[in-house]
Amino acid sequence: MKVFDLLCPQDHVFEAWFGSEADFRSQMERSMVECPLCGSAQLRKGLSAPRLNLGAKPPEKTAQTAAASVPAVASHTQVDRQKLHAMQAAWLEVSRKIVKTTENVGDQFADEALRMHRGEEPERPIRGQATPTQAMELLEEGVPLLPLALPASSKETLQ
Ligand SMILES: [Zn+2]
Repeated sequence: MKVFDLLCPQDHVFEAWFGSEADFRSQMERSMVECPLCGSAQLRKGLSAPRLNLGAKPPEKTAQTAAASVPAVASHTQVDRQKLHAMQAAWLEVSRKIVKTTENVGDQFADEALRMHRGEEPERPIRGQATPTQAMELLEEGVPLLPLALPASSKETLQ
């Protein structure tokens, strides 16, 4: 078993395991290996010497691997500022939809949700405020909850 540190064009480093050097080459040629962070198949071998693993056991996900990928994720986030902005725009869009399709019951949320859950009231989509204690009680009763922090702008435009 051979272990290689592979690098993608965005310098994400990750470990990959192959049966042999030939196995590694054929998998690379067929683009069967992808960067777990960005999905790129244009990989190159890192500088570290390949280790020979004599056991046939599959690799354990070690803390070392996780630690190695943390800085990569951080730099990835910086590069993807634009993507982040797109995500925020999408999130705002979703928030507006939620505001449009749910009834605002304000601080009556916990009571209303519980009544609907117990069948004392017909089900309808509601939103409102609940204290952390109320939210815990609802979850314990098995009420499905979606905690949301709606952006202030979605409220301004639609209420
Ligand atoms: Zn990558």
